[in-house]
Amino acid sequence: MTNIGIATTTDVMLDYLQFTQITVLQVNATCTEITFNSYRPPPPTEIVSQYHHTDRTHYTQELLKWNGWGYKDSEFRVNNKGVIEFTGNRYPIGNKELPYFTSWVKNTFNVNLANQVKPKMLPKEYPEPIINNTFLEVITNSSINYSLHGIDRLVRSHGHSLREIFMLKKGILKRIPDIVLWPKNHEDVLWIVRVCIEFGVVCIPFGGGTSVSGAANCPEHEKRTILSLDTSQMNRILWIDSENLLAYCEAGILGQDLERELRLRGLTSGHEPDSYEFSSFGGWVATRASGMKKNVYGNIEDLVLRIRMVTGRIDEPEITLEHKVQVPRTSCGPNFDHVILGSEGTLGVITEIVFKIRPLPSIVKYGSIVFPDFESGVRALREVAKERCQPASIRLMDNEQFKFGQALRTETGWGGLVMQGLKQAYITRIKGFNWNALCVATLLFEGNSTKDICLHETKIYEITKRHGGVPSGETNGERGYTLTFVIAYIRDLGLDYHVLAESFETSVSWNQASTLCRNVKARVEIECHAKGIVHYLISCRLTQTYDSGCCIYFYMGFNYETLADPIACYEAIEESAREEILACGGSLSHHHGIGKLRARFYPEMVGDVGLSLYRSTKKHLDPNNIFATNNLDSTLKAKL
Ligand SMILES: Cc1cc2nc3c(=O)[nH]c(=O)nc-3n(C[C@H](O)[C@H](O)[C@H](O)COP(=O)(O)OP(=O)(O)OC[C@H]3O[C@@H](n4cnc5c(N)ncnc54)[C@H](O)[C@@H]3O)c2cc1C
Repeated sequence: MTNIGIATTTDVMLDYLQFTQITVLQVNATCTEITFNSYRPPPPTEIVSQYHHTDRTHYTQELLKWNGWGYKDSEFRVNNKGVIEFTGNRYPIGNKELPYFTSWVKNTFNVNLANQVKPKMLPKEYPEPIINNTFLEVITNSSINYSLHGIDRLVRSHGHSLREIFMLKKGILKRIPDIVLWPKNHEDVLWIVRVCIEFGVVCIPFGGGTSVSGAANCPEHEKRTILSLDTSQMNRILWIDSENLLAYCEAGILGQDLERELRLRGLTSGHEPDSYEFSSFGGWVATRASGMKKNVYGNIEDLVLRIRMVTGRIDEPEITLEHKVQVPRTSCGPNFDHVILGSEGTLGVITEIVFKIRPLPSIVKYGSIVFPDFESGVRALREVAKERCQPASIRLMDNEQFKFGQALRTETGWGGLVMQGLKQAYITRIKGFNWNALCVATLLFEGNSTKDICLHETKIYEITKRHGGVPSGETNGERGYTLTFVIAYIRDLGLDYHVLAESFETSVSWNQASTLCRNVKARVEIECHAKGIVHYLISCRLTQTYDSGCCIYFYMGFNYETLADPIACYEAIEESAREEILACGGSLSHHHGIGKLRARFYPEMVGDVGLSLYRSTKKHLDPNNIFATNNLDSTLKAKL
């Protein structure tokens, strides 16, 4: 135990300290001075951990695909009538045929749906693990669950970037972890980190494995034993404090589990990245994630109040980096939470987080607005942001994404067609919009009274009307949001039919937004033509808005049937697009992070002093380079 403070106190304070479980180590004779141990969080209003510790040890391989996105029972596939359908009943389009989508896929990518490329089966053999026997003996004698099984190692060897998934489908296995460990709490992690340092073992924290930057994969050059520290068993909500609107959870909890528990209690974190079904709190912090409702709840850095991260600094008596007080804000030198946020597993293991919660809103309402073109939409969203009246979410899709969204509708027969025809006729003939230029914004309002929401809607519709926007109803908006979680499944279908697809994102100031979108699309088109790619799609949407700018997502796909090395081709195109983004004043990433994919650009982004500061921090917190994920700074290859 470390004595970290001496306080002048009174009986009242002593009572409080006992109440807050701060370990009182020493009280002087007059009881005016006490010495106390490390700060512990305040008394919980409700302890959830006692009845919520879900066993998720084998969740990944039992429930989820080993070589693709999401649940095993949910996928787009071509049925025996040649029509694409979505399987399972977890999502609104489950067990439904998608005739319009089928045509859209064929027309956009010139795909022959009879010509399937079957992915490779689950491998029977895996790379031999590199294991130090003394280390293994220590692990075997501990109470921590571990595995050397190939499949356990394989599913923790990657995230969900295009390259990683493509390789798995082709049956190409690169470096995979040698052993998987499932710590159950902070103390287990402390122990594991010390053991890793003692035996020179690399420790890669693994959350939900949804990274799209190559951050979750193992560096190919690593010769040391690689331990995948799977945080999935650290999934408890330790307490909920509804008085101070805070909650305390372990880092491995998945977004959907966290939200379910909070909602049962009329609360929410409000953090909903599109991957929230499968990504973990620790992963969100490690990558500086952003959720679709950030306008109301903030991004991850706005949501967290206190983070605990176990570092590799074993020379100190205490190796956990954390604030010693839990208050809404401090002015106490640089905020070291910001060293942890975005550290991408390179500086330590995030184990526990205190974060803000909010009462669950009683009303959720959707909306949509059609604009004559993307530029008008951008101008409208800019003004909404200027007035600071954004609803929980507001997204603007370009014309290609609008058409893609329309194609995903499930209604068939005359009703659907007639309605669609009427809407189309209204927008094009009566409003005079060009079907091949218009774009749509979808809106998600949250509130506690219909009156407040109506006022909010009115204000937004007034602003957007000044930019030619026409409200186009709740259904379009609702469909946009409910489809969010199925869109990620499309790539697996594409890969089965010679179509590659991937997204990349950036943030940019308002005055550059439209130019950036235009230039990046043009650059991708030029690159595609230069590479002989004929059937491709490049589209974008504006997903987050701020006072000074916005986040833009690009979606890209192409038919790769004739290409010798499709992934290298895609990466070269994305790299050119990234150069164009940077040239237009965009960022390297708004929320996906750097990982290994964008590490080449990292020095340019942070500058010389920034890079040397990061390197000194790395050396200080991880002097033995056991957190050798090789993210951010790609020059760090071996022991420091
Ligand atoms: C379909 C899809 C949609 C997505 N949508 C969004 C979105 O809307 N917003 C967004 O921000 N991102 C999004 N992402 C990206 C991804 O989900 C996020 O980066 C997420 O935060 C990763 O969390 P994870 O738990 O899956 O982390 P992992 O993939 O397991 O790990 C990512 C990195 O964080 C490190 N890490 C994980 N846990 C810890 C820990 N406890 N301590 C230290 N380091 C740790 C890992 O070592 C690795 O370097 C999306 C990805 C996909 C595939």
